[in-house]
Amino acid sequence: MFEINQEIETKKPHACGCNKWIITRTGADYKIKCASCGRELLINSDKLKKIIKKN
Ligand SMILES: [Zn+2]
Repeated sequence: MFEINQEIETKKPHACGCNKWIITRTGADYKIKCASCGRELLINSDKLKKIIKKN
């Protein structure tokens, strides 16, 4: 359901104020990268589903 380089939006913004992230790794754990500051975060798929904004 998520693909590498896919852009996602989170409900809550990152500390830098940006709520857009890019998926950089998929699997049991996903790695997402903040589109603004470039900070990377490792997150499991269940948690990722909960924090993203649904279209
Ligand atoms: Zn950020």
